[in-house]
Amino acid sequence: MKLTRLLPMLLCLSLPVLADTAALENDIRTRAAAVEDKLIEWRRDIHQHPELGDQETRTAKLVSDHLKSLGLEVRTGIARTGVVGILQGAQPGRTVALRADMDALPITEPKGLPFASRAKGIYQGQEVGVMHACGHDAHTAMLMATAEVLAGMKAQLKGKVIFIFQPAEEGSSQFMPDAGKSWGAKLMLEEGLFDRLKPDAVFGLHVMPGRSGEISWRENATTASSDTLSIVVTGKQGHGGMPWNTVDSIVASSQIITGLQTVVSRKANLAVSPAVVTIGSIKGGTGPNIIPERVEMTGTIRTYDENVRQQVVGDVKESAEKIAESAGAKAQVAVVPMYPLTINDAALTARMAPVLKRAADGKIAEAELPGASEDFSFFAREVPGLYVFLGITPPDQDPKTAAPNHNPRFFVHEEALVVGTRAMASMAVAFLEEQPENNR
Ligand SMILES: [Zn+2]
Ligand SMILES: [Zn+2]
Repeated sequence: MKLTRLLPMLLCLSLPVLADTAALENDIRTRAAAVEDKLIEWRRDIHQHPELGDQETRTAKLVSDHLKSLGLEVRTGIARTGVVGILQGAQPGRTVALRADMDALPITEPKGLPFASRAKGIYQGQEVGVMHACGHDAHTAMLMATAEVLAGMKAQLKGKVIFIFQPAEEGSSQFMPDAGKSWGAKLMLEEGLFDRLKPDAVFGLHVMPGRSGEISWRENATTASSDTLSIVVTGKQGHGGMPWNTVDSIVASSQIITGLQTVVSRKANLAVSPAVVTIGSIKGGTGPNIIPERVEMTGTIRTYDENVRQQVVGDVKESAEKIAESAGAKAQVAVVPMYPLTINDAALTARMAPVLKRAADGKIAEAELPGASEDFSFFAREVPGLYVFLGITPPDQDPKTAAPNHNPRFFVHEEALVVGTRAMASMAVAFLEEQPENNR
């Protein structure tokens, strides 16, 4: 290579990286505004045609057609119905992943919105109403818009952006969680999503009741770990008038439920992590004068620390078994691990805080622990991750009393969505602009 050709390259390498962040963010702002009408159209279309976990074929087609039209490399059928698009920037650099979930819930939407869902679906073998009551319609539309924004900035883009449109965040509609099968983010990873192209960071966003357009987040533990609990209490069936001839599974079950309350209040180290043990269903008995042999209960365990999680799971098992034993009954306890806790990488969170503040025009807040869990956690276990929340409560309503996620009245103030697109695009660009030490 001639020196004359080498010189400009050397000059280029010796210059400090002068990322023109303001210009790039202005570009994102202009492009996001230009795509806003389409974003809202996509969101309404997806809202009107919701699909349950592992059945998101229409949504996946809408997404993949769009990504292909932008010139992205597109893969479909990942984790059954997932779609992944890869945008290759014109300049070399790192890789960043942006994730949205596409599935809806087995909830019937009330009439009202012109684009309200009237869809029916099959959930675990039962016909149900289907509704986007967790805002995944908004997530999908915002990420489609983000792809359009960033595809338009390809020439300035350093590195690659992976757009992950994942199915079944709320679980599969086709099998029970304890069926020994994987779904959603976990299945995408098991199918080798990050083996083929491992991102250097992953970002996710969820809509929640909150000031419209406000972005909130927290460092470290962000969404809870989730374990599904099932307890089968077996006694001895007999006449309700002669309990002395029976082992009463109903009374033993009620003692177990009461006893489990002390697993959190007396045993879990709440100074390390909040914890929740909820019994959400109980089934047993057929009539007033029959003491049944068997009572079945299901519940959920939530924590924000892996050690507390293991301790609570162990204590729930031990308490249930021993309380049943003291009543002369037997408790079979099964705990199925669902989602790990989501950890927001501290360094990544600190680096993205000013980016998010600008994207949200200063409307930012520290997020509370949500109690919900998220399978984004599987991605964030593999690479540094950041998961943020976007407020979507209309300005004339109080976020504290607004219908929460999973409620049939859950409502998305669509003006907030362009902020979500700005935030996702800005985080991706800011991450790719940054030249990490020891990595160049
Ligand atoms: Zn949800
Ligand atoms: Zn959700």
